[in-house]
Amino acid sequence: MKAVLDHVGIAVKDFPAALAFYRDALGLEIEAPEEVASQHVRAHFVAVGGPKLELLEATAPESAIAKSIDRRGPGLHHITLRVDDIRLALAQLKARGVRLVDDQPRPGAEGALVAFIHPSAAAGVLVELKQVALSSRLSAISRYTVGDLELISVCDGFFRLDGGSMFGIVPRPLWEKKAPADDRNRITLAMRPLVVRGRRTMLIDAGLGGKDDEKFREIYGVERSRSLDDTLAEAGVSREDIDVVVATHLHFDHAGGFTVRDQSGRLRPAFPRAQYVVRRGEWEDATHPHARNRASYIADNYLPLMDAGVLLFVDDDQTIMPGVRVERTGGHTRHHQMVAIESNGKTAAFVADMMPTTAHVPDAWIMGSDLYPVDTLTAKQRFAVDAVARETLVFFEHDPNVAAGYIRDDSGKRTVQPVS
Ligand SMILES: [Zn+2]
Ligand SMILES: [Zn+2]
Repeated sequence: MKAVLDHVGIAVKDFPAALAFYRDALGLEIEAPEEVASQHVRAHFVAVGGPKLELLEATAPESAIAKSIDRRGPGLHHITLRVDDIRLALAQLKARGVRLVDDQPRPGAEGALVAFIHPSAAAGVLVELKQVALSSRLSAISRYTVGDLELISVCDGFFRLDGGSMFGIVPRPLWEKKAPADDRNRITLAMRPLVVRGRRTMLIDAGLGGKDDEKFREIYGVERSRSLDDTLAEAGVSREDIDVVVATHLHFDHAGGFTVRDQSGRLRPAFPRAQYVVRRGEWEDATHPHARNRASYIADNYLPLMDAGVLLFVDDDQTIMPGVRVERTGGHTRHHQMVAIESNGKTAAFVADMMPTTAHVPDAWIMGSDLYPVDTLTAKQRFAVDAVARETLVFFEHDPNVAAGYIRDDSGKRTVQPVS
């Protein structure tokens, strides 16, 4: 079992005094409190770079925190370790005869599952195990209307990439506040293709698909308990309904779902009636990879499209169907493109890996894996100014929590207002 320190809980008796020390004297940032009504506890998380402190206030005399303070006084109360699979962790501990407070996980804050281990088994420390929520709350579809077009954000599950490679020059203590890393330094990312329904039905990107093997799924922490097929079905869209597929670029987490292996083992297009729109320069790069980009391209995802004669290459920015235009951003790959949507004066944008998550909205937050990061910067700055001015609905393809939102400019500081 691999466990990572998530936070340290402190039982607080005199909250104003605790604030005077942690907030005022140390200058730490206290997050908005979270009320856990069932436990009669109010929790205030304190960011200290990496694992957090949790200041715990009792809200009723029967609270476990109040009882603990009565017995042992205020102070260190518990430590919380994050595990990938809490049920498996509990089973392994039980098999070793470790005394547990909870043999079954129970719901914690923000959809997490938690369970306590008895202090007598842990050198006198109360230990909480925690499994953070993944697919349960995040793989839902969401629908939006932009002018005459209907946009449906769908999901092909989650995977994990190295946190450093996702944030480039941004130091870990900063990015880790937005995207907690697992014990292998990986952060969780969603794959959210977008359905656009207008005169035709379009799918932008298609996630990872299901052709990978066990080793690949282990390396990338793939979690596809709900796949693109499941979420398309929920959206009322079948594979046969798709008229056109647009590739922002051909990396495996965007193009994996473009092809499927049929029962005879042959690879064929996953969307039988669709034309696939691909930037010609991206195709050239994907079919002639080099040491720096080879790991991101898997030929089985796109070469079968050529054999099937369903590719439509584009060389320039252009309208693919009324209201939907591809625009080259470069940066992430030389010919990476975004999709700009406009109908009846309303605008939306599918920006793909130019801003893969809401954390990537500020200028300097650029992926370390981008081939031309300064081009990403230029494209992103230009886009953000325009998106703020025009109230563009922006889709964040890899954000595990936010499918879409509006970029706001708060006196020079860019933030995202999520829309669900
Ligand atoms: Zn990419
Ligand atoms: Zn990507």
